[in-house]
Amino acid sequence: MYLRTISFFYNTFLFTSKIVCNTFVYLHNNIKFYKERYQCYYYINILYYLQDIEIYGFDYDYTLAFYSRHLHTLIFNIARDILIDEHRYPEGLKEYDYMPNFVIRGLHYDVQKALLMKIDAFHYIQLGTVYRGLNPVPEKEVIAMYEGSHVPLEIMSDFYGKVCHTMKQFMDIFSLPEMTLLSCVNDYFMKHNIDYEPVHLYKDVKEAIGDVHVRGIMYRAVEADIEKYICYGEQTHAVLRKLSKNGKKMFLITNSPFDFVDRGMNYIVGKDWRDLFDVVIVQADKPGFFNDRRKPFRRVTDKGVLLWDRIHHLEKGQIYKQGNLYEFLRLTGWRGSKVLYFGDHIYSDLADLTLKHGWRTGAIIPELRKEIKIMNTEEYVHTMTWLQALTALLEQMQVHQDPASQTVIQQWINEREEMRLRTKDIFNAQFGSLFRTYHNPTYFSRRLSRFADIYMASLSCLLNYDLQHTFYPRRTPLQHESPIWPEQTSTGTHVGESLHIT
Ligand SMILES: [Mg+2]
Repeated sequence: MYLRTISFFYNTFLFTSKIVCNTFVYLHNNIKFYKERYQCYYYINILYYLQDIEIYGFDYDYTLAFYSRHLHTLIFNIARDILIDEHRYPEGLKEYDYMPNFVIRGLHYDVQKALLMKIDAFHYIQLGTVYRGLNPVPEKEVIAMYEGSHVPLEIMSDFYGKVCHTMKQFMDIFSLPEMTLLSCVNDYFMKHNIDYEPVHLYKDVKEAIGDVHVRGIMYRAVEADIEKYICYGEQTHAVLRKLSKNGKKMFLITNSPFDFVDRGMNYIVGKDWRDLFDVVIVQADKPGFFNDRRKPFRRVTDKGVLLWDRIHHLEKGQIYKQGNLYEFLRLTGWRGSKVLYFGDHIYSDLADLTLKHGWRTGAIIPELRKEIKIMNTEEYVHTMTWLQALTALLEQMQVHQDPASQTVIQQWINEREEMRLRTKDIFNAQFGSLFRTYHNPTYFSRRLSRFADIYMASLSCLLNYDLQHTFYPRRTPLQHESPIWPEQTSTGTHVGESLHIT
């Protein structure tokens, strides 16, 4: 026993010395690496030749136009008041204001159980990220409800994130106020011991949020105070000019109405914005636009009058409403990998284009800006590197089973758990990073890598590249592969190997 303990500590000393030494070098190099990592790069899922792209397509909301934090507050407040005034929800809900940092995009909502949660790429709930109302649900309770932490395929949302049985995934940036409102109303009902049906609540909140858009309330509010709600898009303007100067064709397909888009584009680009686009389609009804062949295009005058003539050409300078992608392809001939379409909604904007039509796809993920900024901090790099070093230590030393060794190992396990929580909370106290559960990609990340050829924080990243650029995806090691290049350890996944642990 005594000898085993001595042996354990001697081995640990040698091993730890090696780790400390190598970790110091690793930390030094990686802090430099992270600091140099620029927030406005493209991130590549598939080999990509920009020189092959002749036609660029864009969604409008959160792709060409970015909104200030005031917009989500506006949507939350209007939807909350619709619940009170039209659905007879309690007046007490007025106590709740929008909480900008409560939720993140990509969460799942269990409609039957009224639980909001983060799920990873393998359908496992990240324990500690399940919320009922505004409060976390204890892990034991979650495990009892789901008989573990795995969510079976048959109760997950469908391929496009819609509710099939129980789970709804929120993929839209506009869904942040919806999730927050659901959490607030659940919180109110629970606090006041009010018996309610969660399915009705989900539908009422969804309808109220939908009304903010459908009734035009949000559009009118933004148009009335454009400077308050739209972030001035100097760089969006620069990107469009760059593409135009290089002879690229451009088109816009948005679900928003013309007046709203026109007002916003006048602000972002200028009065001549329509000269930049070869085709403009509004109220397209995506994702139906990509699948439903029945809806024909309809021309809209500048004053919003709908014309009834059959459309034989999509003309520059005109505005079209609805239509469908099959007709769009027939009229323009813009097919296959010479077309690159940018959108922020991975399902509604990108999924069908990738799966059925072979266009190239670019996802705009504004959250990247904040997350990469956090990853650039010394605190994050330090925590992540020590976390990986500690994990390697545990992996190596777990063979020592005597009580003294096990006491030390348990202390490491506790420290590792604390560090894991810190790496989650640093992004969002409730739900952590949009892209990761602890070591796995999130369900959101998996969908992003499936449907987007490239992704980036904003279109302005395009200004950093020549239009002849070739994007080479980074060869990240699979679990059974040892890393070949130092930068492959930047995620920390294989830091153990990088430390030459023997
Ligand atoms: Mg959008």
